[in-house]
Amino acid sequence: MRKKIVIIGGGFGGLSAAKEFNDFDADITLIDKTNYHLFQPLLYQVATAALSPADIAAPIRAVLNKQKNTTVVMDEVTAIDRVNKKVITKGSEYSFDYLIIAIGSSHSYFGKDEWEKNAPGLKTLNDALNIREKILLSLESAEKMNNPEETIKYLTFVIVGGGPTGVEMAGAIAEIVKISMMKDFRNINSEMTKVYLIEALPRLLTAYPEDLYEIAKKDLETLGVEVLLNTMVVDVNDEGVALKDKFIPTKNIIWAAGNTVSPLLKSLNTELDKAGGVIVNPDLSLKDDSNIFVIGDAAHLKDKKGNMLPGIAPVAMQEGRYAAGIVKEGKDADLRESFKYIDKGTMATIGRAKAICYIGGLKFTGFFAWLIWCVIHIFFLISFRNRFKVMAEWAWYYITFRHGIRLITGHPEKQEEIRNSNTPD
Ligand SMILES: Cc1cc2nc3c(=O)[nH]c(=O)nc-3n(C[C@H](O)[C@H](O)[C@H](O)COP(=O)(O)OP(=O)(O)OC[C@H]3O[C@@H](n4cnc5c(N)ncnc54)[C@H](O)[C@@H]3O)c2cc1C
Repeated sequence: MRKKIVIIGGGFGGLSAAKEFNDFDADITLIDKTNYHLFQPLLYQVATAALSPADIAAPIRAVLNKQKNTTVVMDEVTAIDRVNKKVITKGSEYSFDYLIIAIGSSHSYFGKDEWEKNAPGLKTLNDALNIREKILLSLESAEKMNNPEETIKYLTFVIVGGGPTGVEMAGAIAEIVKISMMKDFRNINSEMTKVYLIEALPRLLTAYPEDLYEIAKKDLETLGVEVLLNTMVVDVNDEGVALKDKFIPTKNIIWAAGNTVSPLLKSLNTELDKAGGVIVNPDLSLKDDSNIFVIGDAAHLKDKKGNMLPGIAPVAMQEGRYAAGIVKEGKDADLRESFKYIDKGTMATIGRAKAICYIGGLKFTGFFAWLIWCVIHIFFLISFRNRFKVMAEWAWYYITFRHGIRLITGHPEKQEEIRNSNTPD
């Protein structure tokens, strides 16, 4: 009988697995709670008004439309019934012979979930749009304020977490509020703005060599970012961020620290790590079920040196292709080769035309690194239309230094509050 293969998640891992099944003689069902594949590495550009949501997302259905063996379902998986080999969704249930789970991760507040209201994280398009509007609304509020103490809260931006997302976000925000957007305002200026990047560890970007981290830190400081290392956040509330020995009054906090995996994985009744990731076999299958695979951010797998594979797109994509390959071969678990991650490098941007890249032991910085970063990101964007649009937006931004996507359409109550406030004399 024709095998049934279910893939949960149409992100980097799930989509790579699905594409690998092109022309394979089986029924493939890909289930995702959204109808689009999201290119998360460019989310911060949506959050900082450099790109629009459609530039970094593509409908999964359209990506897989030529694959006749594949059905795309928009639904949310709520449980996995291993005994009856069924995936339970909000609307239905799907039986499987093989299951590939690629549900990604979300941000973790280390048990302080109440902080999320004031310190949103960046994982989804909605998160990015919310953050974008929050930044734009803050600038509009500050422009109309009479009280300097209040104004400063709207012009202070705090990013918590010094990994690649925090670094990229801090650089992009500093560029907006210190350089590119301030020309458009009359009552506020760049000297009034503050951008903090807070990291609990002694350094930023722990996955990068020390000298690249030093360069990134210097680049951030040149842009006007105040980097606070060895600094723990002890509270987040409506008025700002409390550190051990300082309170930063702010209305703009962005959370870029910590990851956790969906509680959905608990329904697998298998071994999970502290963050909720599934501890998988070297072939990415469950410890106690060789026909169920977990890949990408949701999987916990260590390399030969005992280091956990990082939660990045190339790991998810390689794992997706590998897991699909194993399913296609149909080998028993003891005959399968282990998954081996091929590290092709890592990179992060700092502002408009600077980046750091660490590729094959080689280090690149500055403008050249930024060009490499641009080319690689354009190459991996999912559709030709997106590639073309993003290239055009970046060229426009590079020449004009203007962020184009600056409309405020949400948050009607906050908009009304700003309309009703007085402009300074
Ligand atoms: C802001 C940001 C910046 C990043 N920058 C980089 C970078 O520069 N370079 C890099 O390599 N990596 C980067 N990453 C990490 C990278 O995006 C992830 O490692 C990668 O997306 C993981 O792929 P995945 O397939 O495991 O999960 P995802 O790509 O997150 O896909 C998970 C999919 O599962 C779906 N889903 C989740 N739960 C359910 C459910 N219950 N039912 C149905 N569908 C579900 C989601 O809708 C989503 O489509 C970044 C991540 C973020 C958030």
